[in-house]
Amino acid sequence: MAKQAESETDPQTAAAAFAGLSIEAMLHDYDGRDARDIFAKAEGFKLSEQARAVGLYPFFQPLDRNDGPEAEIYGRRVVMLGSNNYLGLTRHPHVLQAAHDAISEHGTSLTGSRFLNGTTHLHERLENKIAEFLGTEAALVFTTGYQTNLGVISSLVNRRSVAVVDKADHASIYDGCRLAEGEMLRFRHNDARHLDTILRRVGKGKTSLVVIDGVFSMGGDIADLPGIVEVCQRHQVRLLVDDAHAIGVIGVGGHGTASHFGIEGAVDLTVGTFSKSFASVGGFVAGSRSVLEWIKHFGRSMIFSASLPPASAAAALAALEVLIEEPERVETVQRKGAMLRDGLRDMGFDTGDSQTPIVPVTIGDEVATVTFWRDLLERGVYTNPIMFPAVGMGKALLRTSCMATHKDEHIESALEKFQALGRKHGLLP
Ligand code: PMP
Repeated sequence: MAKQAESETDPQTAAAAFAGLSIEAMLHDYDGRDARDIFAKAEGFKLSEQARAVGLYPFFQPLDRNDGPEAEIYGRRVVMLGSNNYLGLTRHPHVLQAAHDAISEHGTSLTGSRFLNGTTHLHERLENKIAEFLGTEAALVFTTGYQTNLGVISSLVNRRSVAVVDKADHASIYDGCRLAEGEMLRFRHNDARHLDTILRRVGKGKTSLVVIDGVFSMGGDIADLPGIVEVCQRHQVRLLVDDAHAIGVIGVGGHGTASHFGIEGAVDLTVGTFSKSFASVGGFVAGSRSVLEWIKHFGRSMIFSASLPPASAAAALAALEVLIEEPERVETVQRKGAMLRDGLRDMGFDTGDSQTPIVPVTIGDEVATVTFWRDLLERGVYTNPIMFPAVGMGKALLRTSCMATHKDEHIESALEKFQALGRKHGLLP
């Protein structure tokens, strides 16, 4: 990272720079014992500065260009393995044209909530198209996927309700539960039997909403939807599946997790985002008309926040049209993902339970992970270092992902770099 550090820091030097520094302690104890100023924690926060000083700060790195499968950063052309642009549509002509046309027609922003002045026919067309695609009665578009989970969960889980979530669920699901008045209970990752145990414990007179990711954002593994549906049906509780990483990626024609298992219709609510396969930004929930009518009027993140800009709505709609017209993109991204996953696994990297184009490479130690990330980037491979709180402490990983527009040569070249550096860093024999 030329702009960050003049010279390369070898893994030992990097580890020494952080020696004696407990990341966990720093994250929890910035205030100090007798801090009187609420800003004291910010003054005590030195971790990012220390990481920058040794050229190992991985976040908020500005890209010069993002062309999809390739990008440019610090003047270097890199293979992009760190985005969620699964179908590679961010520069598709139909998507670009739709966004341009929407700006010409509606301007840059609606400057208001969906609830009041922020709804256009474009938003409604997008909702109808999503409902038609997923075979639900209706769909409701939010400004981001994050806000969708906040609004949906908090409007449904009241004082007499419980949200039951998978431990590996996305942060937006946890935050939706925090905003909700009801209690939150967690079950072991992808463990339908443990979900069953938890639901048995929920007191009588309480209603429950089970919330899972369809494809887990960090592990790239697929939820045991048939097992979870069986438990939910037995306990007569409702199920919300966040298919942010599943739509466009798994299932027939990219229809997501329920389609992947051939159990369409078994899910009560499906949440999705436009910031991944849909090459835009925004989010949606799809389900029955009456429930969406409730969420529409009680989902605070929809009512009290400005609506999705027209260009973003138009881009998402156009991307969905491309997905419907060119379903072969789904198979392509799966094939590219398998190539990356098998390649990394065969070399001896720990890719966990990934079954999708999201391929984590678990390294464990945070400093070792960032050092590996930096060396890969310097050799032309862009990945995302993931650490606490997105994963557990000491379980840091590099998150890689493929898109339908990656050429085989991109993946081959990335694999070569992974192998050479994996040996250098002592991660491979
Ligand atoms: N749900 C999941 C599973 C996600 O991975 C993400 C984003 N990474 C979101 C929701 C939030 O989506 P958005 O980027 O649209 O806010």
